[in-house]
Amino acid sequence: PYTGPSAAEILSKRKEYLSPAMFYLYNKPLNVVDGKMQYLFDEKGRKYLDAFGGIATVCCGHCHPHVVDAIVNQTKRLQHSTILYLNHAIADLAEALANKLPGNLKVVFFTNSGTEANELAIMMARLYTGCHDIISLRNAYHGNAAGTMGATAQSNWKFNVIQSGVHHAINPDPYRGVFGSEGEKYAKDIQDLIQFGTSGNIAGFVSEAIQGVGGIIELAPGYLPAAYNIIKKAGGLCIADEVQGGFARTGSHFWGFENHGVVPDIVTMAKGIGNGIPLGAVITTPEIAEVLTRRNYFNTFGGNPVCTAAGLAVLNVIEKEKLQDNAFVVGSYLKERLIALKDKHDLIGDVRGRGLMLGVELVTDHELKTPAKLETLHVLDQMKEIGVLVGKGGFYGNVFRITPPLCFSKEDADFLVDAMNYTMSKM
Ligand code: PMP
Repeated sequence: PYTGPSAAEILSKRKEYLSPAMFYLYNKPLNVVDGKMQYLFDEKGRKYLDAFGGIATVCCGHCHPHVVDAIVNQTKRLQHSTILYLNHAIADLAEALANKLPGNLKVVFFTNSGTEANELAIMMARLYTGCHDIISLRNAYHGNAAGTMGATAQSNWKFNVIQSGVHHAINPDPYRGVFGSEGEKYAKDIQDLIQFGTSGNIAGFVSEAIQGVGGIIELAPGYLPAAYNIIKKAGGLCIADEVQGGFARTGSHFWGFENHGVVPDIVTMAKGIGNGIPLGAVITTPEIAEVLTRRNYFNTFGGNPVCTAAGLAVLNVIEKEKLQDNAFVVGSYLKERLIALKDKHDLIGDVRGRGLMLGVELVTDHELKTPAKLETLHVLDQMKEIGVLVGKGGFYGNVFRITPPLCFSKEDADFLVDAMNYTMSKM
């Protein structure tokens, strides 16, 4: 049993010693002390179904024994910086990742986070093309350092950074967008941005396949192929941000972009790659990777032995435990049940997503799509009381984000939907 400080004691220390910028879910935040696969346990030993662990990077399940063993064994043997010496762990993971990617995407550079990965990808696109202009989508989240904060396009995540050379294209949002699900129509905006906002040549385009922070928005079908064509014609590189949608989460494919039938020039990843261990990566072609040899470039811990040992274990677990198939089967089942719930509760405006990356948007008016922000908070809180943790997102904070560890079962899906149904029925 847990004998550490209580939630109240932790909260008071946080107040005094931690940045006031740090936030938590729930009015009465949970003190989680143990994790096992798709479950979390609080200080009193109470069990919660974790349907949001995916965002917190856990794809194989909390404390998956195979991943834990890999981390412990490597830690006992050696942990060091990535630079200076050889070690097999980084090379093994690079090879395994490259084998998961299509085309000539073969060269890996490891980082510690998704932000770093996207910063590097954007810099490489700029170096390779000799251009500065980058296009990202409105409502996107790509990170919070200077460059990526520019590419991020939601005011609540943007500080007063100098946003140099970033243009934000109309979001191909099937639910709220002006063109509905007609992806190609939205792509025309990219053409306009290039034509009227740049010299005609650009460095690149970065996007998620399903916007995570933005509220589980699956880009309208046909958008990415059309967008990639326009970008390529303007000499730009296409960057796929797979920080949330990668690593088998969408079920039908290993990478989110594969659902759209495109092949990017650069792929960035983090979160799921390490099952909770800080790790990120940028994968590109040998030709593009060359740009980093123009100067000295390094990352002290990106790709260190312990983190890359974890990464290799993650890939093995996804394969051995057929987690992609599970994400597809359980995710499809869960989505069906959520769609049925939508017919029952007026509060649900939209159910969307793929595999185990699902969103439920709450609105008070179906015509006006008025965000049901308070109702979302209420349901979130009540579901926690029942023992189910889901996430929240979207610009208006009115979308449930359901991104559990990929070992989520049909019984878990039933429990989640029943808890949501019960809570909404009582409102
Ligand atoms: N890209 C996407 C799509 C993300 O969701 C996030 C984090 N929410 C990032 C990049 C940044 O990753 P990190 O927080 O590891 O820097």
